[in-house]
Amino acid sequence: MFRRVLLAASGSDRVRQLVVATPPTRRVVDRFVAGERPGDALDVARRLAGDGIAATVDRLGEGGADLASARESTAAYLGLLDLAEDAGLSGGLDVSVKLSALGRLVPDGGRKICYENAAEICARAAAVGATVTIDAEEHASVEAAHEVLADLRRDHPATGAVVQAYLRRGVDDCRRLAVAGSRVRLCKGAYRAPRDVAWTRRAEVDAAYARCLGVLMAGAGYPMVATHDPRLLALAARLAQEYGRPAGSFEYQLLHGVRPHEQLRLASLGAQVRVYLPYGPDWYPYLLRRMAERPANLALFVRALRSR
Ligand code: FAD
Repeated sequence: MFRRVLLAASGSDRVRQLVVATPPTRRVVDRFVAGERPGDALDVARRLAGDGIAATVDRLGEGGADLASARESTAAYLGLLDLAEDAGLSGGLDVSVKLSALGRLVPDGGRKICYENAAEICARAAAVGATVTIDAEEHASVEAAHEVLADLRRDHPATGAVVQAYLRRGVDDCRRLAVAGSRVRLCKGAYRAPRDVAWTRRAEVDAAYARCLGVLMAGAGYPMVATHDPRLLALAARLAQEYGRPAGSFEYQLLHGVRPHEQLRLASLGAQVRVYLPYGPDWYPYLLRRMAERPANLALFVRALRSR
């Protein structure tokens, strides 16, 4: 119920205006968002690198249905990659992109537009030693995202996919994607999805995640284990051992601001760890999804409001 209300609010302009206009929100935002400018994200990426942790940088912004915002978003990613190269941080860097930010929702030709923009980002990433991962969004967009990804992989085979374990189709997606050279991020899923397409109870989602993880770890691809759930992290380590996967043949991914001690602990064990690093002024839907995942995050926000 709590999760449903917050995910609904993430799409509401009225709630957005209220939250964005509330100054103490900033402190809560700062916990999950690296900053407003690309340089802020790269500063955090540099600090993480000092701890042996890699980054995947996400330029916040989603759902623009016009050509101009799709181009602006594409240009921002290209600028970010250039800046990373100048700062000596682009080798091994990943950028996470949402096709909705690259034009998927533009009427007439959105699919082609987002493909062309994503391909431009993939080409620039490859030129500076970085990679791209296509984030998963609402369930209705997943099939189109997989089609665009397949097109991108023809020229840029390292382009990463994301599977949301809460979708009933998740395990089939994992079977299809667990092939040599394929990078696959497995997450639980952060959007609203109806019961006919998604597992909606926590225990079902966790069980589905475990099944998907088994497929990816047994397969020939490069699994990216995106969760903070201690039981699933432990399962990933057990499966890696069972399938004889050395440390560099898969990675853990965690969100900026969530379980930072666990990020350091995993890295100190020699595991490959990557932190998802969002930046940009359009943080509202991202923040609401993080609150929906954990009631304590909302409490943090309410406390910030009271201390005004
Ligand atoms: P949960 O059961 O939600 O959490 C397990 C434990 O982790 C909690 O008990 C708590 O201790 C901690 N925790 C989890 N979330 C938070 C939080 N927000 N604040 C504080 N503590 C928390 N979803 C998509 O739909 N598409 C994507 O492309 C996508 N990319 C992702 C990339 C990365 C690197 C990660 C880590 C997540 C991504 N997600 C994505 C979000 C994901 O789907 C989940 O919503 C999110 O990770 C919470 O699920 P969990 O696996 O951590 O398990």
